[in-house]
Amino acid sequence: MFKYSNLFGGCAKIIQKSNARFISFRSIKKLYSMYFNKTIETAKPPYDFICQVGNPILRQKASLIDIKEIQTVEFQKTLDHLYKVLRESDTVGLAAPQIGLAWQVFVIELTEETLKDVHPTIRLHCQIEPQPLTYFINPEMEVTNSEELIFHETCGSIEYFHAEVARPKEIQIKALDRFGKSFCWKAEGWLARIAHHEMDHLKGLLYTDRMFPLTFEYNNWDKKNNIDEEKNIIK
Ligand SMILES: [Zn+2]
Repeated sequence: MFKYSNLFGGCAKIIQKSNARFISFRSIKKLYSMYFNKTIETAKPPYDFICQVGNPILRQKASLIDIKEIQTVEFQKTLDHLYKVLRESDTVGLAAPQIGLAWQVFVIELTEETLKDVHPTIRLHCQIEPQPLTYFINPEMEVTNSEELIFHETCGSIEYFHAEVARPKEIQIKALDRFGKSFCWKAEGWLARIAHHEMDHLKGLLYTDRMFPLTFEYNNWDKKNNIDEEKNIIK
C-alpha cells in the first residue's frame, strides 16, 4: 500500500531541498497541515512518547548540560520522566533527544526481569549482562576494544524494524551521574552496544546510518498478520 499523505510530506521535503531560496520548509509544512487539516506535532517536550525517525530533533547534536542545572528540581524531574518513558516503552536505553530534548543525557537499565525470557545460549553468545538504572550526563566515550561484533539491533525511534549493526566490543564512558558526580563506566558485549547506540543519539545518528542495508527488516509481521486475519473474519 502506498500512503498518499506520506507522499505529500516527502514531496514537501524534496521541494524544500531544491527550492530552498524561494520557499521555506515552514510554509510548505503549514500548507500541508492545512490541506490535511491536522497538526503535525502539538505536544511540547519532554514528550510522553518516543520521537520517530523523521523528527528533526533526532538529527541534532545534543548540548552539554551546565553542571549547576543538574541539582535543580526541574532537571531531576526531567530525568525521572526520561526513565518513566523508558519503562513504559519496554526498552533498555533511552536518550534525551528521543523525548524531544537535545541534551547530552541518556539512561540505561537492563534488569534480570527483562532478561528472564532470553535463552541462556543467546545470553552467552551476545554477552548480555544486567545493568542497574544508570544515568549518563555529558558522557564522553572511548572505544577500548575496536573489534566489532555484529548483531540485530532495534530502536524505539524506528519502531517495528531491525537490522544488523557492527559495534565495538568494549567501551569506556566518563560521565556525570544524576547528582553531578563524575564516574567511569566500562562495558563489553551487549551493554557496550546499548551505550554506543545511545551515544550515537547524542550526535544525531541512528542505527540506520551504520546498519548493513540489506538486513533492514520489518519485525511486526505476527501482529500485522493477526490484524489482517481478524479483518477477513469480520468481512
Ligand atoms: Zn535508539
